[in-house]
Amino acid sequence: MAKPIIDEDCCKGCGRCVAACPKGCLTLTDHFNKAGLKPVAYKGEGCTGCATCFYNCPEPYALKVER
Ligand code: SF4
Ligand code: SF4
Repeated sequence: MAKPIIDEDCCKGCGRCVAACPKGCLTLTDHFNKAGLKPVAYKGEGCTGCATCFYNCPEPYALKVER
């Protein structure tokens, strides 16, 4: 099953992936990472593996998609 894998400490919490996901299955969290930013999280269902989130993320190591 496809799913996004997020490295919370690399995520800048910019929200680009949240806005880009056609299935609406990403969300920003309320907790802070090591950089003091609120990272994104997978809601746990709905991912199709399209990788739109990956291609919209400006941080090279923040997000990848497992297919
Ligand atoms: S791979 Fe596609 S469906 Fe899955 S979280 Fe990323 S943008 Fe959303
Ligand atoms: S995973 Fe990338 S696009 Fe999504 S909020 Fe984090 S830094 Fe921004």
